[in-house]
Amino acid sequence: MQNSEIKTTCSYCGVGCGIIVTKDSNNGISVKGDKDHPVNRGMLCSKGMNLHYVANDVSDRILYPEMRWSKSHPLERVNWDEALDRAAAVFASIIKKHGPDSVGFYVSGQCLTEEYYLVNKLVKGFLKTNNIDTNSRLCMSSAVVGYKKTFGEDSVPISYDDIELADTFLITGANPAWCHPILFRRIEQHKEKNPKTKIIVVDPRKTDSALTADLHLQILPGSDIYLYHAIAKCLIDKGYIDNDFIINHTENYAAYKNMVVGTSLEKASQLCGIPISEIKQAAEIIAKAKGFISMWAMGLNQSAIGVDKNTALLNLSLITGHVGKPGSGPFSLTGQPNAMGGREVGGMANLLAVHKELANPEHRQEVADFWGVDSISEKPGLTATEMFDALESGKMKAVWIICTNPLVSMPDVRRVEKALANAKFVVVQDISHKSDTAKYADLLLPAAGWLEKEGTMTNSERRISYLPKGINPPGEALSDIEILIRFAKKMNFNGFNYNSAEDIYKEYCALTKNTKIDISFLNYTRLKNEGTFQWPVPDYGHPGTARLFTDKKFYTPSQKAIFNLPTSIDNTSEQPTDKHPFILTTGRIRDQWHTMTKTGKVSRLLSHIPSPTLEINPIDAFKTGIEDGNIVVVSSENGEVRVKAKVTDTIKEGVVFLPMHWGKQLDNDLNRANNLTNTVVDPISKEPDFKFTTVAVVKY
Ligand code: SF4
Repeated sequence: MQNSEIKTTCSYCGVGCGIIVTKDSNNGISVKGDKDHPVNRGMLCSKGMNLHYVANDVSDRILYPEMRWSKSHPLERVNWDEALDRAAAVFASIIKKHGPDSVGFYVSGQCLTEEYYLVNKLVKGFLKTNNIDTNSRLCMSSAVVGYKKTFGEDSVPISYDDIELADTFLITGANPAWCHPILFRRIEQHKEKNPKTKIIVVDPRKTDSALTADLHLQILPGSDIYLYHAIAKCLIDKGYIDNDFIINHTENYAAYKNMVVGTSLEKASQLCGIPISEIKQAAEIIAKAKGFISMWAMGLNQSAIGVDKNTALLNLSLITGHVGKPGSGPFSLTGQPNAMGGREVGGMANLLAVHKELANPEHRQEVADFWGVDSISEKPGLTATEMFDALESGKMKAVWIICTNPLVSMPDVRRVEKALANAKFVVVQDISHKSDTAKYADLLLPAAGWLEKEGTMTNSERRISYLPKGINPPGEALSDIEILIRFAKKMNFNGFNYNSAEDIYKEYCALTKNTKIDISFLNYTRLKNEGTFQWPVPDYGHPGTARLFTDKKFYTPSQKAIFNLPTSIDNTSEQPTDKHPFILTTGRIRDQWHTMTKTGKVSRLLSHIPSPTLEINPIDAFKTGIEDGNIVVVSSENGEVRVKAKVTDTIKEGVVFLPMHWGKQLDNDLNRANNLTNTVVDPISKEPDFKFTTVAVVKY
């Protein structure tokens, strides 16, 4: 029998690389990069090129529904009808007794767009609560608010193809060499061909990205806004700004200018831990740019002042007029493969589909009418951290968790353990028994994984891809949409008579009509036959939109981009004390993905960094008597971890770094970085402050 090939998209990061899957006669697969794909042009990173191991190994998969009748009983195998009858009965009874806000759903940026749309419709339209949030809250919510405040909507203006048209990159709070590797490879290749291309990296660590930079600003965590203001001051003082763009296409420049020209370079230098000469050098590089791209990720977003950091960075693109033209623009790097798709369908507690606002009564009614329900609650739902707080306090009684592992990924994770232990009913819908969260399930539902179901995703550059079903899921696992449809029917909800993912996609597309993200003419047939498209795609022959705002008309009421002033320039995180003198920053490593339920299965990926180590600067190590390889105890107000120290001058003095991937192994949770992290969130985006927790470090 001949092997067959399937074109699809990598299921890991927001870069969205094209993959060709070759399927053998035994339902096994192999993978290679798709040379014709506009994103990766045949390249794959270590995670993508090992994806077949994850798909072929079903040893950890959840194969059938499992349920327990009380917390003291073990899980036992049940059939789908029994499982979903119980889920419907428990949810209906809790809602009847305690109201709709006593239940909630916590979902994932790895859900496909159809799944994301459907679960939002189910919860906001039919369960009558807005308690649906996503792990994208931990990742991109500060960027979403930043875009909305600056451009009027959550709209990433540029395209990967702008990389090859730019001559200057400001990469800040991101390590794309490890976390968005194929995108970074494109930057490296561009620089190899065009050596005058300049890269500035802002990071407290000398990452692989920083090592390729022309200028590495080794910043102290939390001081980013001072740096951007200092750079802006240098640009304004020297006249390196685009007056025409500012006058004709922006609002609030006078107030912004007034604020930043008063910036003391000496103070900024001191707070940022960066010499004035380097701040000036960064400004000079940006001043000379013909094409200027700023890129950022969690270093900005996961902060107590994440929204302010985002708008302060966006302001640099506005003063220099680098928006809406080739090779220029701000570019948030999405962590997850479909975080963008989730944003499109309103996959957060305060959003509605197609960028409509939950707070707007007209928008609520439009969506309610479209779904055929009377109304949508005006009360904003609980965000990710609020949801687990509500479970802990007993305000929320039941939670349904889809495709995410909060027992590793949430801040102050021991509190999340208490919250789940306290919940009356926990549904976990996942693919793997390796998920730490599965251990808290009262109902465990086996879901289909990558390549086992069909749907669409949107990557960091607004590019929509179709992912076909190529293989059957193991055991009795079902696609997430099939599980949700069956549950909705058990609840006797109308409006869930779909026969396929395509039916759901068509419904969602119809809702996008005449919006800024219009894909009402982008059907499955075009996606299958013609490949990927960047939204909007507002008519049949439309090729998709590589770049937004080329007409300099923004989505604000005045059609002008807005200079936003920060509510707080100073970092509002908890500050170091004698007891906790170090700043802990957490993040990813090259070969692992999220909580390792997939990449942790692949031995060649584990071999890169097999266990977590704490990076500590040699001066700090000397002061604390720590030597390379010593076991150290890292403690914060919330908990502790015990890991090996890696003494390295790649990390700034006063700062320590721990990877976030490891969870509980057997009864030992001392590798888990989120034992330590604090519960501070940005006041607007509600994104946690993962990049700034104060800790003590001592030799064990
Ligand atoms: Fe997959 Fe991201 Fe690697 Fe591309 S860069 S292969 S999308 S993990």
